[in-house]
Amino acid sequence: MREYLLMKWNRACAYCGATSTPLNIDHIHPRSRGGSDRVSNLTLACLPCNKRKSNMPVEDFLKKKPAVLSKILQQAKTPLRDAAAMNATRCAVLRALEALHPDVRPSTGGRTRWNRRRTSTPKSHTLDALCVGVLASVVRHPKAIQVVTATGRGTYRRTAPDRYGFPRLALPRTKQYFGYATGDLVRANVPNGKRQGNHTGRVAVRATGSFNIKTRRGLVQGIGQRHVRLLQRADGYAYTTRAEVAHA
Ligand SMILES: [Zn+2]
Repeated sequence: MREYLLMKWNRACAYCGATSTPLNIDHIHPRSRGGSDRVSNLTLACLPCNKRKSNMPVEDFLKKKPAVLSKILQQAKTPLRDAAAMNATRCAVLRALEALHPDVRPSTGGRTRWNRRRTSTPKSHTLDALCVGVLASVVRHPKAIQVVTATGRGTYRRTAPDRYGFPRLALPRTKQYFGYATGDLVRANVPNGKRQGNHTGRVAVRATGSFNIKTRRGLVQGIGQRHVRLLQRADGYAYTTRAEVAHA
């Protein structure tokens, strides 16, 4: 049954696999035989397949291709089930948000895409966030974005097990030594010796006062605590920036 002409070049005909050809929306179970208009009964077919199938039951049309038939019937069942779960979740989320704030407006992915095209915004995860909902125009595209990475706040473990699971080491009860805790962002200015120079990065502390610093260039070990200055306390996250990249 011919419905709409779709010019989707990257899709394939469900029956013969033909690509790079206009595809029609085809009713898997023909409407004339009681098939419904629901998404679960629709698939994409090339013009010749669409025509040849016409009002034939799909089982007859694909008699010689049992593998294709079972695949189509299987796929026809899944989208509705997924859509139902997705819709129920979406409604529940919307209701909860509306209870929190009177001004919550739902929007669609289609609108995001429309906004993106209209403002010729490149497609990327972060830029898509700019295109959600009612949008007059994008005034300024960000050049860089902040990346927040969860780094954790250490461990409550008091022992380190060996490979058989037996306690091997008693770990220290304190997290701070000389005012520094593992994970703090520090800069060390070492005036002389093998590690001479400036080292900036996350510190790993030792009770002995000999610290390790993970810098951008690599790990620098055995830096005396007296050379170290605190830049930022570890709060469980690492903050960096990177250039906004447009994905093709
Ligand atoms: Zn076809």
